Amino acid sequence: MFELMENAGLERLHLACDPETGLRAIVAIHSTVRGPAIGGCRFITYKSENDAVIDASRLARGMSYKAALAGLPHGGAKAVIIKPEHNFDRVALMKSFGRFVEDLGGRYITAMDSGTQTSDMDAISQTCQWVTCTSQSGDPSPMTALGVFEGIKAAIRYRTGNDSLKGIHVALQGLGHVGYAVAKMLYASGAHLTVSDIDQGKLLKAVNELGAKAVAADKIYSVSADVFCPCGLGAIINDHTINELNCDIVAGSANNQLEREEHGELLRRRHIMYAPDYLINAGGLIFVAMQHAGQNDAAIKAKVRQIGTSLYQLFQQADQEDRCTHRIANERAEGIIARASLHPAA
Ligand code: NAD
Repeated sequence: MFELMENAGLERLHLACDPETGLRAIVAIHSTVRGPAIGGCRFITYKSENDAVIDASRLARGMSYKAALAGLPHGGAKAVIIKPEHNFDRVALMKSFGRFVEDLGGRYITAMDSGTQTSDMDAISQTCQWVTCTSQSGDPSPMTALGVFEGIKAAIRYRTGNDSLKGIHVALQGLGHVGYAVAKMLYASGAHLTVSDIDQGKLLKAVNELGAKAVAADKIYSVSADVFCPCGLGAIINDHTINELNCDIVAGSANNQLEREEHGELLRRRHIMYAPDYLINAGGLIFVAMQHAGQNDAAIKAKVRQIGTSLYQLFQQADQEDRCTHRIANERAEGIIARASLHPAA
């Protein structure tokens, strides 16, 4: 357990068990040196409790990096509630999780993630003040999608010198909350879409509404396109897919896109520009953090749009120094956190 914490760079690892509601939850806090740690709460099934702890732990660092690069006064964390196998009262379970988070005294602020929805955040808010994404504040996905769209525009501008997406071909994987919203914005800008999803209903909708071409899930990597936009699973840039990719740019919302760091090097060697996941998909985090701080929609959107500028500058630096975008982004985030640790937030 301690080795896992060390490898994941965790500051704290909190566990809670409440037999009455069936709650088994983990909060992995990576850092609070820049402010309270913020990050989503997953509610999914796991093969083992160990897998759940590993999942929360490995995702927490990315949240710190995301907050640091977005200039938010927060550290990163991730929570997991292991979905019970037997019947359970969802509201009671979420309220119990709320008590757990409340006990952490504001060191961790929770938010929506895979398997949780605004109604869960509403239940959590009955017992906890450190919660975002309630039905009053809303779903962060549209802002994540806006950030990804701005990121794709910046990448195209960098590659072609042209701001227009007209005629640009995007291969988009995963038509969920974020992916479908990105697809809609691309379509409205004149881009052509090839899409994949394991849900046939979503595929059909994209074909009918956005004139997209649908391909089988395992065929999306090899589609000849300007941009591959992964908005479904993590670890999709791996030993199997890296040589299949037939695009100039990888820019999408999925978390942890590189299975291993070296896959980022391989992308660069293949002259494929990579938009680091935690930079391009920070729109949702910007939304929840700024909303929690009471800022208005216009300020939030303006900040999300800056993702495009940050990415453009990163692409420039990567070419000037002949280095990988993800290495530079990691270094920048680590530098910001290290400097803050000299003067930690109260
Ligand atoms: P979602 O669950 O709404 O959508 C995921 C989609 O991917 C679903 O339509 C699903 O059917 C599809 N999918 C699953 N397996 C697939 C496969 N093998 N091939 C093709 N499609 C497949 O999730 P979301 O909220 O849209 O998030 C998408 C990704 O972006 C996730 O990796 C998530 O962690 C990341 N992300 C989301 C947000 C946010 O604000 N929602 C913020 C940051 C990062």
